[in-house]
Amino acid sequence: MIAKLFAVLSADGVETRAVGGAVRDAILGLRVTEIDLATTAPPQKVMDLAREAGLKAIPTGIEHGTVTVIADGVPFEVTTLRRDIETFGRHAKVAFTKNWEEDARRRDFTLNALYADREGTVFDPLGGYADLMTGRVRFIGKAEDRIKEDYLRILRFFRFNAYYGKGALDADGLKASVKLREGLSQLSAERVAAEIRRLLVAPQAMRGLAALYDYGLLTDILGGVPRLVRLDRLIAIDQAYGLTPDAALRLAALAVFVSEDAERLAARLHLSNAEQAVLELAAGETVKPEDEVSAKEILYRLGADTFRARLLLAWAESGADPHDSHWRSLFTLPERWPAPNFPLRGADLVELGEAKGPEIGELLRRLEAEWIADGFSGSREALIIRAKELSTK
Ligand code: ATP
Ligand code: MG
Repeated sequence: MIAKLFAVLSADGVETRAVGGAVRDAILGLRVTEIDLATTAPPQKVMDLAREAGLKAIPTGIEHGTVTVIADGVPFEVTTLRRDIETFGRHAKVAFTKNWEEDARRRDFTLNALYADREGTVFDPLGGYADLMTGRVRFIGKAEDRIKEDYLRILRFFRFNAYYGKGALDADGLKASVKLREGLSQLSAERVAAEIRRLLVAPQAMRGLAALYDYGLLTDILGGVPRLVRLDRLIAIDQAYGLTPDAALRLAALAVFVSEDAERLAARLHLSNAEQAVLELAAGETVKPEDEVSAKEILYRLGADTFRARLLLAWAESGADPHDSHWRSLFTLPERWPAPNFPLRGADLVELGEAKGPEIGELLRRLEAEWIADGFSGSREALIIRAKELSTK
């Protein structure tokens, strides 16, 4: 599908190349999930060429040169080469150009300004290839000027370091980020949250977060004091078992101790209800590895996913080794022990005719609590006998 699109966007002397993340990650041999294209054709020409070839084209950001072309069901963002005349945050006044280097200069970091044509030949107008190889996240142009155009670039600097950085952080970028950190407060919660989520799951997340903390930026971003060591331990456990990193869980490990932390972060970063629920797990009671009964109760009440999340937080909190056998065995509880269903319903108690209305709920909860404390073993018959016993008291 990409070959077809390249062909379509190479007619009439138009030149089109892949750009940014796709080129960067392909060079590193990483999995490429989305391919952005840069083209010399003006946006209307892109629309025309795509439609003539029978492809759907949507003018998603046409005033900035971006058209989304759907090829075999896959959307590709195609952006006309441009120069940003004036940039204010996410928005810019732009002028289209046919000059690849000009297009490269408006981008944030040299390693994001790599292009590749349909044969796979890499074009590197600003030395991004060498920076990528040496793990140097370097601003294009003067770091301070580029940050003033869009303060999100501060967070992107740390985020890209957490993905591709090696050795010390680029001194200019770091200094400019620290100097201009106040600008972060002008950003929308959504943009900040999107960057933080990606930073949290980066291969070297601690590298980025520890730097943000050391240089005094992280506390302001979170609106509270983080605890890096707990996150560090969670990451070690994730890595020991090849678990897929979860941004909300990592944020919980980093920054939630009491329920107010979860509320504040959710409000500050406009998190989803699902994310807030994960954050709340770090404010709840912790699981203890030697207490399989209460672990089973949590698993029974909250389900396998929530159980695992809570367990990971407690494990990280405890400071126990990622290979600790007690924690490890508890972590596999959902596989070893499929939580049973409580064998009684409210309707069963109504049938008994002994209790009514609110009493039924209370009785049911009491029976359930006893059944749990008894190791989930009581049968339906035994529970009915017990129900009669309790309701005649
Ligand atoms: P990934 O999608 O893996 O985060 P990416 O490089 O594709 O990496 P995007 O945010 O998708 O990053 O942006 C695509 C390209 O657009 C970047 O590679 C970069 O060249 C440019 N870009 C994106 N955001 C900015 C920004 N805030 N300032 C300058 N250039 C940017
Ligand atoms: Mg991208």
